[in-house]
Amino acid sequence: MDIKPVEFDLPEHGSPEISCKPSQAWARVPAQPSTAEKSALKAEIKALLKARDAVLVAHYYVDAELQDLAEETGGCVSDSLEMARFGRESAHQNLVVAGVRFMGETSKILNPEKRVFMPDLDATCSLDLGCPADEFAAFCDQHPDRTVVVYANTSAAVKARADWMVTSSIALDIVGHLHAQGQKILWAPDRHLGQYIQRQTGADMMLWQGSCLVHDEFKAEELKMLKAQHPDALVLVHPESPQAVVELADVVGSTTQLIRATQTPGVNTFIVATDNGILHKMRQFAPDKMLIEAPTAGNSATCKSCAHCPWMAMNGLVNLRDVLKTGFDSGQGEVHVEPALGRQAYRCIDRMLDFAKTHGISGPRGQGRLEQAHQGVGPA
Ligand code: SF4
Repeated sequence: MDIKPVEFDLPEHGSPEISCKPSQAWARVPAQPSTAEKSALKAEIKALLKARDAVLVAHYYVDAELQDLAEETGGCVSDSLEMARFGRESAHQNLVVAGVRFMGETSKILNPEKRVFMPDLDATCSLDLGCPADEFAAFCDQHPDRTVVVYANTSAAVKARADWMVTSSIALDIVGHLHAQGQKILWAPDRHLGQYIQRQTGADMMLWQGSCLVHDEFKAEELKMLKAQHPDALVLVHPESPQAVVELADVVGSTTQLIRATQTPGVNTFIVATDNGILHKMRQFAPDKMLIEAPTAGNSATCKSCAHCPWMAMNGLVNLRDVLKTGFDSGQGEVHVEPALGRQAYRCIDRMLDFAKTHGISGPRGQGRLEQAHQGVGPA
């Protein structure tokens, strides 16, 4: 396998254009307001959403209060693609995206006529950070014979250089389709997801070596021990996790697919290997089930091992209120994508949406094909 080495979790002397490294993100995670403050903030946010003709679109990994607020106010809680789709279908003129930067950008690319805001524009993603557009373009230029497929967790500039964008729900279908046509793939940025797709499809894939700093921390040896303590549990793993962890999975799938898996009949206990923000929605979907976080600790544990994304954690009630209150007038918190770049990036997203429609794949909202196809992918 060809390898393009890339640092994703940059050291202190890293790239100057990185505005918010993980340690800085943790330092900027908003303090939890008191119960009284929370209810006052929620009331204010609800009124502001109405006054601003705005809808709140939140990711499964953000604070539970924001997820509930999105649903209570007619918005949505979902994965990145469904968030963008929802924004496009919404009658509201303004979108507020509680998530990370590439999600706001994707919403803007799909909805160029709408204004898109985020509680904190510095909330980013290690996959996005680890794939700078100029280095990626140079890598693509070195391999003009390959079809460029990128994961949703990339900047608008990287998407503009790609032939296809995929989400984890549809990646296997699209890469399998391209492989059947004899195409060779250049994949970016998540190396673990890329390896997983490569193993499943047999496609010729050259992989960018990025990773998610949350999923990269799940530990296979400790997961084996946990499984031994809970032999009846189903192990749910997001494919951004390392191969050794994926090989222990009973279900490998996107966030939406993992949530659905908690409703598997006859199973009462689930071990979950993805950002622990997802547990809120899983508890709502399967209130009687026992959910156990997959281990991130162990001999090789680091300070990053908390199974929660520092950038997702930057979204809070106060900065959400602030962007609604003042950002709409000042422009603070507004997502901008240069129009020509946005039109170019739109092509690879539209190609994926068109593929999903043509092949009867409803995407993240639909029943998970990846989940269906690869249940039991575990060690057997
Ligand atoms: S959880 Fe991982 S993939 Fe998701 S936004 Fe955070 S760093 Fe990126």
